[in-house]
Amino acid sequence: MHEPYTHTDIDRLKRLTNISEKDIGKRIMYCQECLFQGKPGEVMNSFCPDCKNRQHEVRLMYVVISKELIDIIHQEVPIKKTLSIKEFREKGYLQELNRTFLHPLGLALTVQIENGEETFSQIWDSRDDPEGIYYDLKNSKPDRLASFRQKERFVKDQLNLKNSVRILQIGSVIEKIPKL
Ligand SMILES: [Zn+2]
Repeated sequence: MHEPYTHTDIDRLKRLTNISEKDIGKRIMYCQECLFQGKPGEVMNSFCPDCKNRQHEVRLMYVVISKELIDIIHQEVPIKKTLSIKEFREKGYLQELNRTFLHPLGLALTVQIENGEETFSQIWDSRDDPEGIYYDLKNSKPDRLASFRQKERFVKDQLNLKNSVRILQIGSVIEKIPKL
């Protein structure tokens, strides 16, 4: 599965017209700048001819036509925004998920960073360890602690932004499972 389209992608892709299921698998070239688009499958010079006429050269982009792309163009498919794993880690969500939920259970979600690319890696399992997992913050250096505090603060602030609305909307911050 390819990466989800971003909103900017969608805005651009929504402009593509005249493509149908018979074009699936073909490329379609389009210009990021103007409304220019080639025909499905058509091989084109990599500069936009329309922008070129207006004295600036813009590189053509292409997408491979897929069923999903056609759905996006022809229907109002709700777009799921996603947060990168890097941002998830850097902002503190990973830390607080581990510190407040997984560690006390003896588990830890880990992120692997390889060539700047971050992926969820493994779930450490220390469930057979009576005290679970901990960051050992009591014995940590000040800059490590500062980073932990900043992340904790950020996540708390984000929670506070949502708390009152969630209580109004669904009755509690953490969604309750209704009793039978
Ligand atoms: Zn153009």
